Amino acid sequence: MTKGSEDFLINDHLFNQGLSCPLKIRHILRYHDLHSGKPVYRQRNKLNLRDAVALRFSNRKFTPDHLEIALKKTGTWLKDEEVAVCGAVLQAGNLITRIPILVKKGRELTIIQIHGKLRKQSQRSTIETAGKKRSMAVYLVKAAYRTEVVQRCFPGMTVEVQFVFPNKDFRSTVIGLNRIRDFEVITAHEKSRFEENLDRLFSTVDATVGVNEVLNSVPEWVAHPKFENCSVSEVISSLLSDGDDLSHLETGIHKACKYCKYRKPGVERGGCWETFFAPEAVSRPDKHIFELMGHGNTLESGNGVYYQEKVEITDGLHSFELMKKYGGPKITIQQRRNLQILSTKNETVPELWLKPGLKKLSELKFPLHFIDFEAATYALPMKRGVHPYEPVYFQFSCHSLGKDGQITHTEWLDKDPERPDPHTEFTDQLAQIPGIFEGTLIQYSPFEKQGINNLIRDFRRNSMLHIKQIELLEEIRAGRGENSEFRFMDLNALLRDYYHNHFLDDGLGLKQILKSVLEWEKAYGNIDKKEIEKLSNPYLDIQSNGSKITDGSSAMNAWVAMKNGLLTPEEKEFIPKVLKKYCALDSYSMVLIYRHIVDLLKKMGEEDLIL
Ligand code: SF4
Repeated sequence: MTKGSEDFLINDHLFNQGLSCPLKIRHILRYHDLHSGKPVYRQRNKLNLRDAVALRFSNRKFTPDHLEIALKKTGTWLKDEEVAVCGAVLQAGNLITRIPILVKKGRELTIIQIHGKLRKQSQRSTIETAGKKRSMAVYLVKAAYRTEVVQRCFPGMTVEVQFVFPNKDFRSTVIGLNRIRDFEVITAHEKSRFEENLDRLFSTVDATVGVNEVLNSVPEWVAHPKFENCSVSEVISSLLSDGDDLSHLETGIHKACKYCKYRKPGVERGGCWETFFAPEAVSRPDKHIFELMGHGNTLESGNGVYYQEKVEITDGLHSFELMKKYGGPKITIQQRRNLQILSTKNETVPELWLKPGLKKLSELKFPLHFIDFEAATYALPMKRGVHPYEPVYFQFSCHSLGKDGQITHTEWLDKDPERPDPHTEFTDQLAQIPGIFEGTLIQYSPFEKQGINNLIRDFRRNSMLHIKQIELLEEIRAGRGENSEFRFMDLNALLRDYYHNHFLDDGLGLKQILKSVLEWEKAYGNIDKKEIEKLSNPYLDIQSNGSKITDGSSAMNAWVAMKNGLLTPEEKEFIPKVLKKYCALDSYSMVLIYRHIVDLLKKMGEEDLIL
């Protein structure tokens, strides 16, 4: 399929991408990236939410995944006078769309989109304009494309649009509101209680006026400069036009490039900028300003500066020596930015820079518990009495390091799809970690300490039932014995203030720091090289059967899909294993980073350590 040919089909994803930049269509077609590629478990949980909304329609029909069959079924069902088609597929010439719910009542068609964003009951019940909020503009653009296709398929019929949002003030009065699949097998009495909850949970907003505005003129902040003030129909004509039309290249690099996955070279592809825009005067066309840490990138791009090499250092610190001379006890984000720029300009920068503040790591009380929690948030509450998106703590991994260098690994994962509330078991298992009431809890953000506070708050709602868990958590929070200055230590905060290495140029998250530490150790360090080789691509190596659990969000969605009853029998087997490996890797990464730093601290005197 090529752009401009007869079999070239625009779908919802292609339209949205092409609107933000027509050049993306070339990349998408070239790399067969035709679908939005939302991670599979997240997509299933979104469909579960749609199915919860669909329950309000008695004459609902569900299309299968297969696009052509779904298209045929939609056509057949829409011959009925009244029907709600979930996953409706419509095609008008080269345009195709899949609509979450399409409701037909006589000569009226209503497009229903379900969005996860919380909305207050008191907010307006109509959306009349895209306003200045990007998220609302994105929802309206999606709906406007769908409306265009529906109008072309059914000229003369009235087309309306409704958006459905979870209500911020909702509290569930039932257990298991997330298990929509089970609704078919519950009693009529139970069913009415669930339906009453879903009615209160969802707020419906009429977006027809806002969608019509976007149909006539797409909002400039989600459209390529070429499409400013164009109608949806004009954008479609342009996207469908001759595949060799590259007139939009004249617009050059633009603001949507910042978030575009085609900008940088990928595993199998060259980067867009290098292919289409790289000026000859830049020796490092792969170093873009959007990867620079700190402030100033919007200002730079606004002034037409897109390459790190072209960025002027404005604070007068034109060398590392000057940065060190005028710097304070902490490494600032602005200094990190300067180091990135100096390195791209081929100036001398240190391979490693440690500040004495890191010595706090030597003062910690053993055992050291490198601990990682995983939590899930979902719009449909699993247990009674909670709001949408209240966090559910479902997993932890802890590597405990004794003074003798011995490591003990303890982990727990909620694997029971029927259990609405894993917090009691989570807490009881947490208390089983050997030595957990002593020493120091090392976390990579304040997340674990906040988690313990949240759990205590959650148990206090029913304090008589959970006296034991409240006591355990309070004791874990405070620690036993003499008070230590650091019961909790945030490793991320320490690294942010006192650590830099030459390989670190892409943020300070755990996975980025681990990658840079492993690269540094491979090049110069003492950590066993075999151990490092084993970890060359750790988060990809733990996957199984294409599981793609590589970050907190995918881990959360895989677990939520399990709780929603949406995993296949094979997935029920391998997902828990990958989840355990994922969480264990997070806590073990902290051990590796800790060892790397403690080893370097041995070389440190009173001054900064610079290698
Ligand atoms: S990098 Fe920029 S110009 Fe290239 S496809 Fe992406 S948004 Fe378009």
